[in-house]
Amino acid sequence: MPAESTYPPVDIPNVDLWTFLFERKERTYPDDKELFVDADTNRSYTYAQVKAAAMDFGKGLKAIWEWRKGDVLALYTPNCVDTPAIMWGCAWAGGILSPANPAYTAEELAFQLKDSGARALVTQKPFLSIAKEAAKMVGMDEEYVILMGDERDPSARHKHFTSIRNISGAVRYRKTKVNADKDLAFLVYSSGTTGRPKGVMLSHTNVISNILQGKVIEGPHLKPTGGPDGKGDKILAFLPFFHIYGLTCLVHQAADAGVTLVVMPKFDLEKFLNVIQTFKISFVYLVPPVVLALAKHPIVSKYNLSTIRMLNSGAAPLTQELVNGVNERLGLKIKQGYGLSETSPTTHAQSWDDWNKTIGSVGRLLPNMTAKYMDAEEKEVPTGEAGELWVKGPNIFKGYLNNVEGTKNALTDDGYFRTGDVGYQDKDGNFYITDRIKELIKYKGFQVPPAELEGLLVSNPAVADAAVIGVYDKEQATELPRAYVVLAPGQTKGDAKAKEIMDWMSTKVAGHKRLRGGVKFVDEIPKSASGKILRRVLKEQAKAEMELK
Ligand code: AMP
Repeated sequence: MPAESTYPPVDIPNVDLWTFLFERKERTYPDDKELFVDADTNRSYTYAQVKAAAMDFGKGLKAIWEWRKGDVLALYTPNCVDTPAIMWGCAWAGGILSPANPAYTAEELAFQLKDSGARALVTQKPFLSIAKEAAKMVGMDEEYVILMGDERDPSARHKHFTSIRNISGAVRYRKTKVNADKDLAFLVYSSGTTGRPKGVMLSHTNVISNILQGKVIEGPHLKPTGGPDGKGDKILAFLPFFHIYGLTCLVHQAADAGVTLVVMPKFDLEKFLNVIQTFKISFVYLVPPVVLALAKHPIVSKYNLSTIRMLNSGAAPLTQELVNGVNERLGLKIKQGYGLSETSPTTHAQSWDDWNKTIGSVGRLLPNMTAKYMDAEEKEVPTGEAGELWVKGPNIFKGYLNNVEGTKNALTDDGYFRTGDVGYQDKDGNFYITDRIKELIKYKGFQVPPAELEGLLVSNPAVADAAVIGVYDKEQATELPRAYVVLAPGQTKGDAKAKEIMDWMSTKVAGHKRLRGGVKFVDEIPKSASGKILRRVLKEQAKAEMELK
C-alpha cells in the first residue's frame, strides 16, 4: 500500500507565482520589510522594491526584447540580491527562468542555452566574457545578453536591467496571463537517474506547492518580526540560487514568510561565520561539508553563533556522527531535508521537534504527497522494508524538456516519480536513505553526471574507454568523482598519465566536476550484455581500493 503523508493536506491556490507572491491578501508583513540584503555591501531590497524592480524588468523584457509567453530567460550568475527581481520579472512577463551554474565553462553554458532554447541571458560583468562566448556559440545576439549586479558595461552594449526602468511606452504593458498548473516557471538542469543534464520542467503550481508544503515545517518558526534585533528571522543564503534547493527554500520562502535573506555570493568559512555573528542569523540551510566544518574546524570556536536556532542540511547524505558532533561542540540543532530538482525540491523534512529523536532520517513525507517503495521488478515492498522511493504529489515536475524517453523513464502513467534513491520508512513515517541506485554523483551537493564526464574522457585520444563513479570521502563529507580508464594502445599507465588526464579534465569542466577521486587504470570497463556500465562492480572495486589504502 502506498504511504500517505502523515501531515494533513494543505490548500494549493490555483494562481501563478506573481499573483501568489505579490497580489495575495494574506501577506503577514509590511511593504518596507527587508527581504534581501547583500552580506558584503549591505545593498538590499524591501518587498516593495523587489516587486517594483521585477515589474520594471518584466516591462523591459516586453518593450525591448519583445518577450512572449513561454520564452526562456537564462541566468548565469553567483548569488546576488538582484536575482529575485530578475526571476519574478521574467515570471511577470510570462517567461521561464533557466538558471545555470556560474562556474560553467562557455561550452557547458552553451549546452544549457541551446537545450533550453533561451532567447536571452542575464549575467554579471565579471562573467560577461564567458557569457558572450556561450551566446555566440548558440547564435544569440549580443544585445540579448543583459547585465545585473554592481557593475555596468562601460561600452553600454549590454543593457543593465536597472537602466531599462521607465522606458517610454512601457506603461502600456500588462502582466502576461499564464495557466499556473500547465505553464512553466522554471527550467532547472539535472541529469536525473541517468545520462546528461536535462531541463526539468517546473510549473508555477509545482513551486507554489512546495513553498506551502515546506511551510508546514518551517512556517511556525520563521517570523518577520522579533528575534535578537527585533527585525525578525534572518536566513543565511550561500547555497546557490541556481539550484532548486536555494531557488525554492531560500528565495521563495523568504518572500512568502517575510524573513530576511542575507545573501553571500560564494562560500568561504570565515566569512560565513562572520556573517552569522554580524547579522545575528537565526536559520541556515547548508550541505554536509559545511556541517563537517562546523563540527571540526578550529576557527569556528572564535565566533558567536548563539543566535542560530536551527540548521537544515540537505542535497547530500549527512552522517549521524556529524549531527552529534555539531550538537556536542556548539549546542546547535541540525535537522535534515531531502528532495530533488524534479520535486521542486523538498519531499521529506525532519521537524524542529523531532530532529534529535530521528537522527539519520531525512524526516517525514510532506503534505499532499504519497510514497511507494519498490523492488527491482517494480513491485511494492512491504512498508518498513527498503526499496526505491517513488513519490507523487503537486510538486512533481512536468517532465524533461524535449525528452520523451527520459520523461517516460522518470514518471509512471499514474504520476509517480522514480527517485533513484533507496531507503525505508519507520513506523512513524520517518524516511531513512540507504542507497542510491542512479548514476548521479554529488560533490558537496553539486550534481556531477557521470555520463557527461565519460563522454569527455573518450574524446581524449589517450583514452579508449572510461567509466566514472563516486567514491565517498569521509574527511570532506562528500563523494568525489573517480574515473576508471582503459588507455588507448601505445599509452603508458602510471601516476603521470593519471595526472595528465585529471589536469586535462579540469580544463574542460566546472570546478565541481573535476576528477578529485583520481584516475584508475583498468584493462576493461565492466559492462552488461547490453553494453551498460556495471557501476556496482566498480563501486565494489573502489571500496576494496580504499580499504587497501
Ligand atoms: P538534486 O536534483 O541536485 O537536488 O539532487 C537530488 C539528489 O540528491 C537525490 O536524489 C539524492 O540522491 C541526493 N540528496 C538530496 N538530499 C539528500 C539527503 N538529505 N540525504 C541524502 N541524499 C540526498
